[in-house]
Amino acid sequence: MPLYKTKAIVLRTRDLGETSRIITLYSLRYGKIDAVAKGIKNLTSRFGARLEPFTLVDLVLFGDVEKEGLHIITQAQIINSHQALREDINRIAIGSFLVELVASLVEGGGELNIFYLLENFLQALETRTSPLFIYAFSLKLLSLLGFKPHLENCLRCHGKLEVEVKVMFSATEGGMFCLPCAPARGGINISPGTLALTKQLLALPPLRIAQIKSSSELLFELRSMVLDHLLSQHLPWPLKSVKFLIEENGGLVHRLGQ
Ligand SMILES: [Zn+2]
Repeated sequence: MPLYKTKAIVLRTRDLGETSRIITLYSLRYGKIDAVAKGIKNLTSRFGARLEPFTLVDLVLFGDVEKEGLHIITQAQIINSHQALREDINRIAIGSFLVELVASLVEGGGELNIFYLLENFLQALETRTSPLFIYAFSLKLLSLLGFKPHLENCLRCHGKLEVEVKVMFSATEGGMFCLPCAPARGGINISPGTLALTKQLLALPPLRIAQIKSSSELLFELRSMVLDHLLSQHLPWPLKSVKFLIEENGGLVHRLGQ
């Protein structure tokens, strides 16, 4: 089997036997990969702390990129450990959500834009924290995967959605309805402010998003739309990191927005 090189971001790790770990990576060239780091738990391992979640690494791997199956990491060099992200519990919590979402939602296949989206948000988290990162990243990732919600026109009558009146969002239909066209079940009411904010989150880069101030009402609607409806439509089970972000620490994420 051949050796190959790629840049990659570490998404998660799990133990393999006494001394090794399986590292789930999002690589620049080949998308999501599971690879074994042999002997990484030994004190003298050459990998040291190079393969911790969030780290951007340059890797040499042994395996066949054309085929399914485990690859073996033979060399790892840190490009950016995102150290500043690891020094704050809020940043770690949001970062954990980003990597868990990519690990859970994305299957195989190389997609440069997903790699750069994740790396841009991890870089932004080194200096900024905002609960909006969770919703912006989710919406942008879903868009790259072909599930961008329809926000401009009503899905039924195709009329332009007025910016000053409430609309209804349906995750199963993948977008918004004006109220006269709203389905009887399965939708949630969305205020004009949340609709406008959702469009901004899709359009702006993370450092601009960090400057947006939002009310607890808008954050509540965003959470309901993105986490409870849109993501649950695509995820086989709830993300562990969401429980920590939303339910524990008195709702860590939404306190950040105040
Ligand atoms: Zn309509």
